[in-house]
Amino acid sequence: MSRERTFDLLIIGGGVMGSSLAYHLANDGFDGRIGIFEKDPTYEKASTVLSVGGIRRQFSTEVNVHLSRYSLAFYEAFEERMEVEGIRPEIDFKPRGYLFLGNEKNWPILLKHQAFQRSLGVETQLLTIDETLKLIPDLNPEDLVGSSFSPGDGYMDPHGVLQGFVRKAKHLGVEYLYQEVTGILREGRRLEGVKTKDGTTYTCRSIVNAAGPYAGEVGRMAGIEIPVVPVRRMVYLIKPPRLFEYDLPLVIDPSGVYFLHEAGRQILTGKSRKEEPAGFNFQWDRTYFHEEIWPPLAHRIPLFDELKLMSGWAGLYEINQWDFNGIIGEHPEVRGFYMAVGFSGHGFQQAPGVGKALSEWIRLGRYETIDVRPLGYERIQEGRKVLEEEVI
Ligand SMILES: Cc1cc2nc3c(=O)[nH]c(=O)nc-3n(C[C@H](O)[C@H](O)[C@H](O)COP(=O)(O)OP(=O)(O)OC[C@H]3O[C@@H](n4cnc5c(N)ncnc54)[C@H](O)[C@@H]3O)c2cc1C
Repeated sequence: MSRERTFDLLIIGGGVMGSSLAYHLANDGFDGRIGIFEKDPTYEKASTVLSVGGIRRQFSTEVNVHLSRYSLAFYEAFEERMEVEGIRPEIDFKPRGYLFLGNEKNWPILLKHQAFQRSLGVETQLLTIDETLKLIPDLNPEDLVGSSFSPGDGYMDPHGVLQGFVRKAKHLGVEYLYQEVTGILREGRRLEGVKTKDGTTYTCRSIVNAAGPYAGEVGRMAGIEIPVVPVRRMVYLIKPPRLFEYDLPLVIDPSGVYFLHEAGRQILTGKSRKEEPAGFNFQWDRTYFHEEIWPPLAHRIPLFDELKLMSGWAGLYEINQWDFNGIIGEHPEVRGFYMAVGFSGHGFQQAPGVGKALSEWIRLGRYETIDVRPLGYERIQEGRKVLEEEVI
């Protein structure tokens, strides 16, 4: 027997993006019933919980700096904001900064970006080698000329963040529907609803695609081409022979290898593999660590020559093949079809800003807090790219 339910707005994807949007809509007074679909209530393979939870304002485009600035302030007060009936989520935010190390090659780029970020009011600092060594005494500065440091940025527990958003959104009346969406019902330019795997039809006029690595698939359900594909990214947990007594910022080496502290003072590290093919691949691979990560890591921190590889995992970036930036806003022709997709590795940190901005567009038809129009779908139709030079 087929069933039918009615909502005003349906969000497909209950990760950090969909949940932040649901929270912002409900909290800011959206007048209507909000349902949010999540096909996996354990979130085992959601990008959100497989991310390393970093947030930085060191970007090279204005819209990305603004999104992270809003989100940083939001995360600083997150535990308080997400309190429900006296219980606060724990996100273990560590505001230890982001540190981009500079060599002869990337130093001019870091200088340019630092000046740009300061023009927008972000206090990014250029550090000398001696100042950098004060932050990380174990560093080998041999081939470095300096570093670019943004105090106050940092990293946190993405699972805690997701749980906080979900709990608060539910408390504010959002309904989580643990179903897989298998079809979008569309009549010409008008949306009519969605169908789920269990055969239920949900009618509505507005649908949000917040499906992370599945955003391209969800777009196709509506007959809309969205250039977002899943691409594997691997993270490695290592234990050095001696644990650092000082706190690490999130460090990005010129080789592309990044590292940060994990609980118990072990270290998380990784590096985006340029030639990684698109696909839903969650296989974790030790060889990549041995061949591509360990050598530059041990060069930078000689102590890491004797580290122990403990474990790790693989998750998916939702890569926007058009220009490696988020696609945010309403489809120009299919009105009522909204997108918060394609963040290409910086979606966790942008989720509060994106949720706020898109909720304003949905409620008010304009952006008030952050103007995310540069990231609209229109740029793809018009052949414009937003070129972000700081994609990790
Ligand atoms: C290894 C790694 C490290 C990262 N580190 C960082 C970082 O330090 N900082 C940062 O900002 N970002 C980071 N990211 C990127 C970040 O994780 C993502 O940009 C962000 O989590 C995207 O959130 P989302 O809610 O869009 O996607 P997801 O968390 O994947 O949520 C999408 C949800 O949609 C659900 N879904 C999909 N299709 C359907 C359907 N048809 N029906 C019902 N439900 C559906 C899925 O089950 C999923 O739970 C990292 C990513 C990875 C993989």
